[in-house]
Amino acid sequence: MSEEKKHGCKVTDIFICARCGYCCQGETTVSLDKDDQKRMIAKLGMEREKVKEQYWRVTDNVVQMKTVDGHCIFYTEDEGCTVHEGRPWRCGQWPLHPSILSDKNNFETIRESCPGINQELSYEEFSEILSCLLDDREKLVF
Ligand code: SF4
Ligand code: SF4
Repeated sequence: MSEEKKHGCKVTDIFICARCGYCCQGETTVSLDKDDQKRMIAKLGMEREKVKEQYWRVTDNVVQMKTVDGHCIFYTEDEGCTVHEGRPWRCGQWPLHPSILSDKNNFETIRESCPGINQELSYEEFSEILSCLLDDREKLVF
């Protein structure tokens, strides 16, 4: 989480990461845009081709991270995300996804999968704070 407070709305009122690692599990990952790729390469301090070979799954124009044993290649049980500053922006945004604001079902699904979400809040209460935090910025990272 890079900034705790924006416009008087506190991220911690709706979300505190429990560092459970659930969001790093699965056989696919979020995709990396061009900026994500550059940031990850810089963080790893390796040549692009080496990073691609070792860490990325590239399908047509879509770049994702490889998975190992059912989780993102950068996830370890001891340390969590081992590429934290170089992680894709979508990882930083999770679980406060803008789609929550347009569909209560998205809220329910995300809340069930992320124990860091404040489980005490109603959809309306949660949405009000998230809306304030997002402030129409597509790439807000927490
Ligand atoms: S880059 Fe880090 S935060 Fe994103 S899925 Fe992989 S381990 Fe998890
Ligand atoms: S699932 Fe939620 S609480 Fe768990 S690590 Fe991911 S963002 Fe944090």
